[in-house]
Amino acid sequence: MKQWITKSGYKITRVLSGRSNVFLLSDGVRNTLVDTSVSRLWNKLQKRLDNLGVQSIDYLILTHAHFDHAANARRIKEKYHSKVVIHRDEVNYLTNGDNVLPGGTMFFTRPILNIIGKRLFYFFRYEPCKPDLVVETQYDCKEFEDNLFLIHTPGHTAGSMSFIVDDEIAIVGDTLFGVFKWSVFPPYAVDTKSMVKSWGKLLATNCTVFLPSHGSSVNRDSVQKDYDKRISTIK
Ligand SMILES: [Zn+2]
Repeated sequence: MKQWITKSGYKITRVLSGRSNVFLLSDGVRNTLVDTSVSRLWNKLQKRLDNLGVQSIDYLILTHAHFDHAANARRIKEKYHSKVVIHRDEVNYLTNGDNVLPGGTMFFTRPILNIIGKRLFYFFRYEPCKPDLVVETQYDCKEFEDNLFLIHTPGHTAGSMSFIVDDEIAIVGDTLFGVFKWSVFPPYAVDTKSMVKSWGKLLATNCTVFLPSHGSSVNRDSVQKDYDKRISTIK
């Protein structure tokens, strides 16, 4: 499992990769999990957490309420007694086990979504879960850790959030994609203008490593390049 360690000693472990990345943040005492991947990977996720010796998870942060991020939220909450954290604009989806239907941002995803999107997303409904902590704009996690922030980075969905660790590493959900060589632009977004502005918010931190839910880590230059290219076209 790939790991990153920040200057203050936070360890970030990529517990699952491939379908969707799941990250565990640990300071040696407390554990925070970011996203949960899809329902069918529940056993694998538990095994990986066992291998890491994880017995309790203090917080489960959901970057947004799509099924490939939130499907195991209820199971995590029940098994590891975690507090579930999500943005206000995603609460209704999570409590209903529902997905925000995004618009396609690329020429090949737009028609696909228009035709089959609604049916597909109904098929991907997941076990509903009640959140314990609802974030509005920014949340300073200092009640449980130092130098950890959640910031609202809307665009992919209205309530997408990014987790800023030590002002060094950002766990960004689907606000960026690490899949395509030529761009960090995700294939699905509800509001592309907001998403580009959210990249600006991420670039306003000192983070140098961006960990998306899909694909590999993205460096600051790649985010800056896409941001510069698109921000001038946005009012
Ligand atoms: Zn998503």
